[in-house]
Amino acid sequence: MAKKRNLQSFDVVIAGGGVSGCAAAIAAGRSGASVLVIEQAGYLGGTLTSCGVGPMMTFHAGEKQIIQGVMGELVDRMTERGYSPGHIRDTTDYISYLTPFSSEGLKLILDEMLDEVGCKVLFHTFVGSVQIENKQITGLTICNKDGLTQVSAKVYIDATGDGDIAAWAGATVIKGRETDGAMQPMTTKMKFCNVDTGLLRNHILSHAEDFPRLVNNIELINNTPYLAIAGFIEEFKKAKAAGEISIPREDILFFETSVPGEFIINTTRIIEHDATDAWSLSEAEKIGRVQCSELEKFLRDYVPGFEKAHLELTGPSIGVRQSRQLRGSYTLTAEDILERKPFDTVIAHSAYPIDIHNPKGEGTESTFMSEPGTYYSIPYEIMVCEEVENLIVTGRCVSATFEAQAAIRTTPTAGALGQAGGIAAALAVQEDILPRIVDVKKLQSALKEQGAYLEI
Ligand SMILES: Cc1cc2nc3c(=O)[nH]c(=O)nc-3n(C[C@H](O)[C@H](O)[C@H](O)COP(=O)(O)OP(=O)(O)OC[C@H]3O[C@@H](n4cnc5c(N)ncnc54)[C@H](O)[C@@H]3O)c2cc1C
Repeated sequence: MAKKRNLQSFDVVIAGGGVSGCAAAIAAGRSGASVLVIEQAGYLGGTLTSCGVGPMMTFHAGEKQIIQGVMGELVDRMTERGYSPGHIRDTTDYISYLTPFSSEGLKLILDEMLDEVGCKVLFHTFVGSVQIENKQITGLTICNKDGLTQVSAKVYIDATGDGDIAAWAGATVIKGRETDGAMQPMTTKMKFCNVDTGLLRNHILSHAEDFPRLVNNIELINNTPYLAIAGFIEEFKKAKAAGEISIPREDILFFETSVPGEFIINTTRIIEHDATDAWSLSEAEKIGRVQCSELEKFLRDYVPGFEKAHLELTGPSIGVRQSRQLRGSYTLTAEDILERKPFDTVIAHSAYPIDIHNPKGEGTESTFMSEPGTYYSIPYEIMVCEEVENLIVTGRCVSATFEAQAAIRTTPTAGALGQAGGIAAALAVQEDILPRIVDVKKLQSALKEQGAYLEI
Protein backbone atom coordinates (compact mmCIF):
# COMPACT_ATOMS: atom_id res chain seq x y z
CA MET A 1 0.00 0.00 0.00
CA ALA A 2 1.27 3.49 -0.86
CA LYS A 3 1.89 5.69 2.17
CA LYS A 4 -0.50 8.65 2.28
CA ARG A 5 2.46 11.00 2.55
CA ASN A 6 2.58 13.76 -0.01
CA LEU A 7 5.91 15.25 -0.95
CA GLN A 8 5.76 19.02 -1.43
CA SER A 9 3.11 20.11 -3.82
CA PHE A 10 4.32 21.14 -7.29
CA ASP A 11 2.84 22.97 -10.23
CA VAL A 12 4.32 20.48 -12.67
CA VAL A 13 5.54 16.91 -12.14
CA ILE A 14 7.62 15.44 -14.96
CA ALA A 15 8.11 11.70 -15.22
CA GLY A 16 11.46 11.05 -16.93
CA GLY A 17 14.70 13.02 -16.93
CA GLY A 18 15.83 12.41 -20.53
CA VAL A 19 16.49 15.38 -22.78
CA SER A 20 12.78 15.99 -23.33
CA GLY A 21 11.99 15.87 -19.60
CA CYS A 22 14.97 18.09 -18.77
CA ALA A 23 14.13 20.65 -21.46
CA ALA A 24 10.54 20.66 -20.18
CA ALA A 25 11.74 21.17 -16.60
CA ILE A 26 14.07 24.06 -17.54
CA ALA A 27 11.41 25.73 -19.68
CA ALA A 28 8.66 25.32 -17.06
CA GLY A 29 11.00 26.55 -14.32
CA ARG A 30 11.96 29.61 -16.38
CA SER A 31 8.26 30.28 -16.87
CA GLY A 32 7.79 30.45 -13.12
CA ALA A 33 6.42 26.98 -12.33
CA SER A 34 7.58 24.83 -9.43
CA VAL A 35 8.76 21.56 -10.93
CA LEU A 36 9.63 18.04 -9.80
CA VAL A 37 11.38 15.58 -12.12
CA ILE A 38 11.16 11.88 -11.30
CA GLU A 39 13.93 9.79 -12.83
CA GLN A 40 14.62 6.08 -12.42
CA ALA A 41 18.38 6.46 -13.03
CA GLY A 42 20.85 8.26 -10.74
CA TYR A 43 21.51 11.00 -13.33
CA LEU A 44 19.78 12.98 -16.06
CA GLY A 45 20.09 12.63 -19.83
CA GLY A 46 18.01 9.52 -20.49
CA THR A 47 19.09 7.59 -23.55
CA LEU A 48 22.17 9.79 -23.95
CA THR A 49 23.58 8.87 -20.56
CA SER A 50 21.74 5.67 -19.59
CA CYS A 51 22.24 3.92 -22.92
CA GLY A 52 25.41 5.53 -24.28
CA VAL A 53 23.68 7.12 -27.29
CA GLY A 54 25.42 9.87 -29.28
CA PRO A 55 26.06 12.13 -31.11
CA MET A 56 23.03 14.41 -31.05
CA MET A 57 21.60 14.79 -34.53
CA THR A 58 20.55 17.09 -35.89
CA PHE A 59 20.04 20.72 -34.95
CA HIS A 60 20.42 21.78 -38.59
CA ALA A 61 18.68 21.88 -41.94
CA GLY A 62 21.61 22.24 -44.29
CA GLU A 63 23.59 25.20 -42.94
CA LYS A 64 20.73 26.63 -40.88
CA GLN A 65 20.32 25.83 -37.17
CA ILE A 66 16.60 25.25 -36.79
CA ILE A 67 16.67 23.83 -33.26
CA GLN A 68 17.81 26.44 -30.77
CA GLY A 69 16.36 27.45 -27.38
CA VAL A 70 17.15 25.26 -24.38
CA MET A 71 18.75 22.54 -26.52
CA GLY A 72 20.98 25.07 -28.28
CA GLU A 73 21.99 26.51 -24.92
CA LEU A 74 22.82 23.04 -23.62
CA VAL A 75 25.25 22.52 -26.49
CA ASP A 76 26.73 26.01 -26.03
CA ARG A 77 27.36 25.31 -22.36
CA MET A 78 28.96 21.95 -23.12
CA THR A 79 31.13 23.57 -25.78
CA GLU A 80 32.27 26.37 -23.44
CA ARG A 81 33.27 23.78 -20.84
CA GLY A 82 35.10 21.52 -23.29
CA TYR A 83 32.46 18.75 -23.24
CA SER A 84 31.55 19.17 -26.91
CA PRO A 85 33.19 20.54 -30.05
CA GLY A 86 29.77 21.97 -30.98
CA HIS A 87 28.10 21.18 -34.30
CA ILE A 88 30.42 19.52 -36.82
CA ARG A 89 30.02 18.07 -40.32
CA ASP A 90 28.60 14.55 -40.43
CA THR A 91 31.27 12.47 -42.12
CA THR A 92 28.74 9.74 -42.95
CA ASP A 93 27.04 12.44 -45.07
CA TYR A 94 23.65 11.33 -43.72
CA ILE A 95 22.77 14.78 -42.39
CA SER A 96 24.64 18.09 -42.54
CA TYR A 97 25.77 18.53 -38.93
CA LEU A 98 25.92 16.36 -35.83
CA THR A 99 26.94 17.18 -32.30
CA PRO A 100 29.36 14.96 -30.36
CA PHE A 101 29.50 15.40 -26.61
CA SER A 102 30.85 13.83 -23.42
CA SER A 103 28.06 12.05 -21.56
CA GLU A 104 29.79 12.82 -18.22
CA GLY A 105 29.74 16.52 -19.11
CA LEU A 106 26.09 16.28 -20.11
CA LYS A 107 25.15 14.82 -16.70
CA LEU A 108 26.84 17.71 -14.85
CA ILE A 109 25.44 20.48 -17.03
CA LEU A 110 21.88 19.15 -16.89
CA ASP A 111 22.13 19.04 -13.07
CA GLU A 112 23.26 22.67 -13.13
CA MET A 113 20.58 23.87 -15.54
CA LEU A 114 17.79 22.24 -13.52
CA ASP A 115 19.23 23.57 -10.24
CA GLU A 116 19.35 27.10 -11.66
CA VAL A 117 15.59 27.17 -12.16
CA GLY A 118 14.93 25.63 -8.74
CA CYS A 119 13.69 22.35 -10.20
CA LYS A 120 13.71 19.43 -7.76
CA VAL A 121 14.83 16.02 -8.96
CA LEU A 122 14.17 12.66 -7.35
CA PHE A 123 16.70 10.16 -8.68
CA HIS A 124 16.44 6.39 -8.33
CA THR A 125 12.68 6.82 -8.35
CA PHE A 126 10.23 5.02 -10.60
CA VAL A 127 6.67 6.09 -11.31
CA GLY A 128 4.69 2.90 -10.77
CA SER A 129 1.06 3.90 -11.08
CA VAL A 130 -1.29 6.75 -11.83
CA GLN A 131 -4.44 7.83 -10.00
CA ILE A 132 -7.12 9.33 -12.17
CA GLU A 133 -10.55 10.85 -11.46
CA ASN A 134 -12.89 12.41 -14.02
CA LYS A 135 -10.27 12.37 -16.79
CA GLN A 136 -7.68 14.12 -14.61
CA ILE A 137 -4.60 12.67 -12.96
CA THR A 138 -4.81 13.24 -9.20
CA GLY A 139 -1.49 11.69 -8.24
CA LEU A 140 1.36 9.36 -9.10
CA THR A 141 2.63 6.54 -6.94
CA ILE A 142 6.41 6.54 -6.95
CA CYS A 143 8.77 3.89 -5.65
CA ASN A 144 12.24 4.50 -4.22
CA LYS A 145 14.25 3.88 -1.06
CA ASP A 146 11.44 5.57 0.92
CA GLY A 147 9.11 2.84 -0.29
CA LEU A 148 5.89 3.84 -2.01
CA THR A 149 4.88 7.51 -1.88
CA GLN A 150 2.28 9.75 -3.54
CA VAL A 151 3.11 12.92 -5.48
CA SER A 152 0.67 15.31 -7.06
CA ALA A 153 0.68 18.35 -9.35
CA LYS A 154 -1.59 20.58 -11.37
CA VAL A 155 -0.11 19.41 -14.67
CA TYR A 156 1.80 16.18 -15.36
CA ILE A 157 4.31 15.70 -18.15
CA ASP A 158 5.00 12.21 -19.48
CA ALA A 159 8.62 12.28 -20.66
CA THR A 160 9.22 8.58 -20.02
CA GLY A 161 9.86 7.83 -23.70
CA ASP A 162 7.56 4.83 -23.28
CA GLY A 163 4.36 6.77 -22.58
CA ASP A 164 4.05 5.08 -19.17
CA ILE A 165 1.92 7.80 -17.61
CA ALA A 166 -0.32 8.22 -20.66
CA ALA A 167 -0.95 4.47 -20.92
CA TRP A 168 -1.58 3.95 -17.22
CA ALA A 169 -3.90 6.98 -17.07
CA GLY A 170 -6.03 5.49 -19.83
CA ALA A 171 -5.01 7.57 -22.85
CA THR A 172 -5.08 5.76 -26.17
CA VAL A 173 -1.60 4.57 -27.08
CA ILE A 174 -0.41 2.38 -29.91
CA LYS A 175 2.76 0.41 -30.38
CA GLY A 176 4.78 0.04 -33.56
CA ARG A 177 3.81 -0.20 -37.20
CA GLU A 178 0.14 0.44 -37.97
CA THR A 179 0.05 -2.71 -40.13
CA ASP A 180 1.50 -5.28 -37.74
CA GLY A 181 2.56 -3.55 -34.49
CA ALA A 182 6.25 -4.26 -35.16
CA MET A 183 8.53 -1.77 -33.42
CA GLN A 184 11.96 -0.54 -34.45
CA PRO A 185 14.71 -2.72 -32.96
CA MET A 186 16.49 -1.96 -29.72
CA THR A 187 20.26 -1.48 -29.64
CA THR A 188 22.80 -2.04 -26.89
CA LYS A 189 25.50 0.55 -27.43
CA MET A 190 29.20 0.01 -26.85
CA LYS A 191 31.85 2.59 -26.05
CA PHE A 192 35.51 1.98 -26.84
CA CYS A 193 38.40 4.20 -25.84
CA ASN A 194 41.99 4.25 -27.07
CA VAL A 195 41.02 3.71 -30.70
CA ASP A 196 43.88 4.62 -33.05
CA THR A 197 42.06 7.19 -35.16
CA GLY A 198 45.10 7.76 -37.41
CA LEU A 199 45.05 4.12 -38.51
CA LEU A 200 41.27 4.17 -38.95
CA ARG A 201 41.30 7.40 -40.96
CA ASN A 202 44.10 6.14 -43.25
CA HIS A 203 42.26 2.89 -43.86
CA ILE A 204 39.10 4.73 -44.93
CA LEU A 205 41.00 7.14 -47.16
CA SER A 206 42.75 4.27 -48.93
CA HIS A 207 39.55 2.15 -49.26
CA ALA A 208 37.02 4.86 -50.11
CA GLU A 209 35.09 2.50 -52.39
CA ASP A 210 34.14 0.38 -49.34
CA PHE A 211 32.26 3.27 -47.75
CA PRO A 212 29.24 3.93 -49.98
CA ARG A 213 27.99 6.91 -48.00
CA LEU A 214 31.38 8.56 -48.33
CA VAL A 215 32.78 7.61 -51.68
CA ASN A 216 31.69 10.82 -53.44
CA ASN A 217 32.61 12.97 -50.52
CA ILE A 218 35.77 11.48 -49.13
CA GLU A 219 37.38 14.84 -48.39
CA LEU A 220 34.93 15.12 -45.45
CA ILE A 221 37.13 12.63 -43.60
CA ASN A 222 40.14 14.94 -43.97
CA ASN A 223 38.20 17.96 -42.83
CA THR A 224 36.81 16.77 -39.53
CA PRO A 225 38.56 16.20 -36.22
CA TYR A 226 35.83 13.70 -35.17
CA LEU A 227 34.97 10.65 -37.24
CA ALA A 228 31.54 9.21 -37.98
CA ILE A 229 31.71 5.99 -40.00
CA ALA A 230 29.18 3.68 -41.66
CA GLY A 231 30.58 0.74 -43.61
CA PHE A 232 32.81 -2.35 -43.34
CA ILE A 233 30.05 -4.14 -45.25
CA GLU A 234 32.22 -6.84 -46.82
CA GLU A 235 34.04 -7.55 -43.57
CA PHE A 236 30.70 -7.82 -41.75
CA LYS A 237 29.36 -10.16 -44.40
CA LYS A 238 32.46 -12.34 -44.07
CA ALA A 239 32.19 -12.51 -40.28
CA LYS A 240 28.49 -13.37 -40.54
CA ALA A 241 29.23 -16.11 -43.06
CA ALA A 242 31.85 -17.49 -40.66
CA GLY A 243 29.19 -17.63 -37.92
CA GLU A 244 31.00 -15.00 -35.83
CA ILE A 245 28.14 -12.47 -35.88
CA SER A 246 24.44 -13.04 -35.18
CA ILE A 247 23.40 -9.37 -35.52
CA PRO A 248 20.64 -8.85 -38.11
CA ARG A 249 22.29 -5.81 -39.69
CA GLU A 250 24.34 -5.22 -42.83
CA ASP A 251 27.06 -2.78 -41.79
CA ILE A 252 28.58 -1.17 -38.77
CA LEU A 253 27.99 2.40 -37.67
CA PHE A 254 30.19 4.23 -35.20
CA PHE A 255 30.84 7.76 -33.99
CA GLU A 256 33.75 9.43 -32.20
CA THR A 257 32.62 11.30 -29.08
CA SER A 258 34.15 14.62 -27.98
CA VAL A 259 36.83 12.56 -26.16
CA PRO A 260 39.58 11.85 -28.73
CA GLY A 261 39.83 8.14 -29.51
CA GLU A 262 36.51 7.30 -27.80
CA PHE A 263 33.88 5.75 -30.09
CA ILE A 264 30.22 4.85 -29.70
CA ILE A 265 29.23 1.76 -31.68
CA ASN A 266 25.62 1.75 -32.90
CA THR A 267 25.36 -1.71 -34.45
CA THR A 268 23.65 -4.34 -32.30
CA ARG A 269 20.05 -4.97 -33.30
CA ILE A 270 17.57 -6.73 -31.03
CA ILE A 271 14.42 -7.31 -33.03
CA GLU A 272 10.89 -8.36 -32.08
CA HIS A 273 11.17 -7.38 -28.43
CA ASP A 274 8.95 -4.96 -26.53
CA ALA A 275 10.44 -2.40 -24.13
CA THR A 276 7.11 -2.03 -22.31
CA ASP A 277 7.02 -5.74 -21.42
CA ALA A 278 9.34 -6.35 -18.47
CA TRP A 279 10.15 -9.96 -19.47
CA SER A 280 10.79 -9.06 -23.09
CA LEU A 281 12.98 -6.10 -22.07
CA SER A 282 15.00 -8.32 -19.72
CA GLU A 283 15.55 -10.90 -22.47
CA ALA A 284 16.59 -8.12 -24.88
CA GLU A 285 19.31 -6.96 -22.45
CA LYS A 286 20.88 -10.44 -22.51
CA ILE A 287 20.72 -10.72 -26.31
CA GLY A 288 22.30 -7.26 -26.57
CA ARG A 289 25.24 -8.30 -24.42
CA VAL A 290 25.86 -11.41 -26.55
CA GLN A 291 25.83 -9.28 -29.71
CA CYS A 292 28.26 -6.83 -28.07
CA SER A 293 30.72 -9.62 -27.30
CA GLU A 294 30.60 -10.72 -30.95
CA LEU A 295 31.08 -7.15 -32.08
CA GLU A 296 34.05 -6.59 -29.78
CA LYS A 297 35.89 -9.48 -31.46
CA PHE A 298 34.82 -8.29 -34.92
CA LEU A 299 36.14 -4.77 -34.34
CA ARG A 300 39.52 -6.04 -33.12
CA ASP A 301 39.84 -8.55 -35.97
CA TYR A 302 38.53 -6.51 -38.90
CA VAL A 303 38.62 -2.76 -38.19
CA PRO A 304 42.03 -1.06 -38.30
CA GLY A 305 42.55 1.12 -35.21
CA PHE A 306 40.59 -1.11 -32.80
CA GLU A 307 43.37 -3.65 -32.18
CA LYS A 308 44.39 -2.12 -28.85
CA ALA A 309 41.17 -0.29 -28.01
CA HIS A 310 39.49 -0.90 -24.64
CA LEU A 311 35.84 -1.76 -24.32
CA GLU A 312 34.89 1.00 -21.85
CA LEU A 313 31.27 -0.02 -21.41
CA THR A 314 28.20 -1.54 -22.92
CA GLY A 315 25.19 0.77 -22.50
CA PRO A 316 24.09 0.58 -18.84
CA SER A 317 20.62 0.02 -20.30
CA ILE A 318 19.57 -1.16 -23.72
CA GLY A 319 18.52 1.67 -26.06
CA VAL A 320 14.85 1.80 -27.02
CA ARG A 321 14.03 3.57 -30.27
CA GLN A 322 10.30 3.12 -30.08
CA SER A 323 7.60 1.70 -27.86
CA ARG A 324 4.25 3.35 -27.09
CA GLN A 325 2.98 6.40 -28.97
CA LEU A 326 0.17 8.58 -27.71
CA ARG A 327 -2.81 8.91 -30.03
CA GLY A 328 -3.41 12.56 -29.25
CA SER A 329 -5.45 15.46 -30.55
CA TYR A 330 -3.37 15.28 -33.75
CA THR A 331 -1.13 12.53 -35.09
CA LEU A 332 1.88 13.62 -37.14
CA THR A 333 2.32 11.65 -40.37
CA ALA A 334 5.06 10.97 -42.90
CA GLU A 335 3.12 13.13 -45.42
CA ASP A 336 3.16 16.08 -43.01
CA ILE A 337 6.92 15.73 -42.83
CA LEU A 338 7.72 15.08 -46.48
CA GLU A 339 5.23 17.65 -47.81
CA ARG A 340 6.36 20.13 -45.14
CA LYS A 341 2.81 20.81 -44.01
CA PRO A 342 2.50 24.21 -42.31
CA PHE A 343 0.74 24.27 -38.93
CA ASP A 344 -0.64 27.39 -37.22
CA THR A 345 0.16 25.64 -33.97
CA VAL A 346 3.81 24.87 -34.82
CA ILE A 347 6.01 24.54 -31.71
CA ALA A 348 9.18 23.08 -33.21
CA HIS A 349 10.92 22.30 -36.49
CA SER A 350 13.16 19.43 -37.47
CA ALA A 351 15.10 18.27 -40.50
CA TYR A 352 15.98 14.74 -39.40
CA PRO A 353 14.88 12.24 -42.07
CA ILE A 354 12.56 9.30 -41.61
CA ASP A 355 15.08 6.74 -40.37
CA ILE A 356 13.67 3.25 -39.98
CA HIS A 357 15.78 0.38 -38.70
CA ASN A 358 13.99 -2.68 -39.97
CA PRO A 359 11.86 -4.09 -37.11
CA LYS A 360 12.22 -7.59 -38.55
CA GLY A 361 15.89 -7.91 -39.52
CA GLU A 362 18.52 -6.45 -41.82
CA GLY A 363 18.10 -3.14 -43.61
CA THR A 364 17.74 0.52 -42.70
CA GLU A 365 15.41 2.64 -44.77
CA SER A 366 15.79 6.41 -44.90
CA THR A 367 13.50 8.94 -46.57
CA PHE A 368 14.95 12.41 -46.89
CA MET A 369 13.27 15.74 -47.56
CA SER A 370 13.07 16.12 -51.32
CA GLU A 371 14.91 19.45 -51.25
CA PRO A 372 18.15 19.40 -49.26
CA GLY A 373 18.34 22.00 -46.52
CA THR A 374 14.59 22.13 -45.91
CA TYR A 375 12.73 21.25 -42.74
CA TYR A 376 9.27 20.43 -41.42
CA SER A 377 6.97 21.72 -38.69
CA ILE A 378 5.56 19.97 -35.64
CA PRO A 379 2.23 21.07 -34.09
CA TYR A 380 1.38 21.33 -30.39
CA GLU A 381 -1.59 18.95 -30.63
CA ILE A 382 0.65 15.87 -30.81
CA MET A 383 1.38 16.35 -27.09
CA VAL A 384 -2.16 16.45 -25.68
CA CYS A 385 -5.28 14.31 -25.70
CA GLU A 386 -8.89 14.54 -24.60
CA GLU A 387 -8.87 11.41 -22.46
CA VAL A 388 -6.42 12.68 -19.83
CA GLU A 389 -6.94 16.38 -19.50
CA ASN A 390 -4.07 17.53 -17.29
CA LEU A 391 -1.38 15.54 -19.11
CA ILE A 392 1.23 16.67 -21.64
CA VAL A 393 3.25 13.98 -23.41
CA THR A 394 6.63 14.88 -24.83
CA GLY A 395 9.78 13.36 -26.31
CA ARG A 396 9.80 10.23 -28.41
CA CYS A 397 6.34 8.98 -27.33
CA VAL A 398 4.27 11.88 -28.73
CA SER A 399 1.40 11.27 -31.13
CA ALA A 400 3.04 10.29 -34.43
CA THR A 401 2.67 7.45 -36.88
CA PHE A 402 5.33 4.75 -37.03
CA GLU A 403 7.09 6.57 -39.88
CA ALA A 404 6.78 10.07 -38.47
CA GLN A 405 8.11 8.92 -35.09
CA ALA A 406 11.15 7.56 -36.94
CA ALA A 407 11.94 11.17 -37.92
CA ILE A 408 11.14 13.13 -34.77
CA ARG A 409 12.52 10.68 -32.22
CA THR A 410 16.10 11.97 -32.15
CA THR A 411 17.58 14.07 -29.41
CA PRO A 412 17.46 17.70 -30.61
CA THR A 413 13.83 17.32 -31.71
CA ALA A 414 12.84 15.47 -28.51
CA GLY A 415 14.40 18.34 -26.54
CA ALA A 416 12.62 21.00 -28.62
CA LEU A 417 9.32 19.23 -27.96
CA GLY A 418 10.21 19.14 -24.27
CA GLN A 419 10.77 22.89 -24.14
CA ALA A 420 7.35 23.48 -25.72
CA GLY A 421 5.71 21.01 -23.32
CA GLY A 422 7.31 22.70 -20.31
CA ILE A 423 6.13 26.18 -21.28
CA ALA A 424 2.65 24.88 -22.10
CA ALA A 425 2.44 23.26 -18.66
CA ALA A 426 3.49 26.50 -16.96
CA LEU A 427 0.94 28.50 -18.97
CA ALA A 428 -1.81 26.05 -18.05
CA VAL A 429 -0.91 26.39 -14.36
CA GLN A 430 -0.73 30.20 -14.50
CA GLU A 431 -4.09 30.51 -16.21
CA ASP A 432 -5.68 27.58 -14.37
CA ILE A 433 -6.75 25.96 -17.63
CA LEU A 434 -6.27 22.56 -19.24
CA PRO A 435 -3.09 22.09 -21.31
CA ARG A 436 -5.26 21.19 -24.31
CA ILE A 437 -6.74 24.70 -24.45
CA VAL A 438 -3.55 26.66 -23.86
CA ASP A 439 -3.41 29.61 -26.27
CA VAL A 440 -0.77 28.40 -28.74
CA LYS A 441 0.00 31.98 -29.81
CA LYS A 442 1.11 32.68 -26.23
CA LEU A 443 3.07 29.44 -26.21
CA GLN A 444 4.82 30.41 -29.45
CA SER A 445 5.71 33.88 -28.09
CA ALA A 446 7.08 32.36 -24.91
CA LEU A 447 9.11 29.84 -26.92
CA LYS A 448 10.64 32.67 -28.93
CA GLU A 449 11.38 34.62 -25.75
CA GLN A 450 13.21 31.51 -24.53
CA GLY A 451 15.33 31.49 -27.70
CA ALA A 452 13.54 28.79 -29.70
CA TYR A 453 13.62 29.05 -33.50
CA LEU A 454 10.08 29.14 -34.89
CA GLU A 455 9.09 30.09 -38.40
CA ILE A 456 5.77 31.85 -37.89
C1 LIG B 1 20.03 2.85 -30.11
C2 LIG B 1 19.65 4.27 -30.28
C3 LIG B 1 20.41 5.11 -31.06
C4 LIG B 1 20.08 6.43 -31.21
N1 LIG B 1 20.91 7.25 -31.90
C5 LIG B 1 20.70 8.57 -31.86
C6 LIG B 1 21.68 9.46 -32.37
O1 LIG B 1 22.71 9.04 -32.89
N2 LIG B 1 21.42 10.79 -32.28
C7 LIG B 1 20.29 11.28 -31.70
O2 LIG B 1 20.14 12.49 -31.62
N3 LIG B 1 19.35 10.45 -31.22
C8 LIG B 1 19.55 9.13 -31.26
N4 LIG B 1 18.63 8.28 -30.71
C9 LIG B 1 17.33 8.80 -30.24
C10 LIG B 1 17.42 9.57 -28.94
O3 LIG B 1 18.46 9.16 -28.14
C11 LIG B 1 16.14 9.44 -28.11
O4 LIG B 1 15.02 9.13 -28.85
C12 LIG B 1 15.88 10.73 -27.38
O5 LIG B 1 17.00 11.06 -26.61
C13 LIG B 1 14.63 10.55 -26.58
O6 LIG B 1 14.59 11.42 -25.51
P1 LIG B 1 13.39 11.33 -24.48
O7 LIG B 1 13.68 12.32 -23.42
O8 LIG B 1 12.11 11.39 -25.19
O9 LIG B 1 13.44 9.84 -23.89
P2 LIG B 1 14.55 9.06 -23.10
O10 LIG B 1 15.91 9.53 -23.44
O11 LIG B 1 14.23 7.63 -23.31
O12 LIG B 1 14.29 9.47 -21.60
C14 LIG B 1 13.26 8.92 -20.83
C15 LIG B 1 13.67 8.99 -19.36
O13 LIG B 1 12.60 8.59 -18.55
C16 LIG B 1 13.06 7.70 -17.54
N5 LIG B 1 11.90 6.85 -17.23
C17 LIG B 1 11.24 6.01 -18.08
N6 LIG B 1 10.18 5.46 -17.46
C18 LIG B 1 10.18 5.95 -16.20
C19 LIG B 1 9.32 5.77 -15.10
N7 LIG B 1 8.21 5.01 -15.18
N8 LIG B 1 9.62 6.41 -13.94
C20 LIG B 1 10.72 7.21 -13.85
N9 LIG B 1 11.57 7.43 -14.89
C21 LIG B 1 11.28 6.82 -16.04
C22 LIG B 1 14.21 6.98 -18.18
O14 LIG B 1 15.10 6.48 -17.20
C23 LIG B 1 14.83 8.07 -19.04
O15 LIG B 1 15.81 8.80 -18.34
C24 LIG B 1 18.93 6.93 -30.57
C25 LIG B 1 18.15 6.11 -29.77
C26 LIG B 1 18.50 4.78 -29.62
C27 LIG B 1 17.69 3.93 -28.73
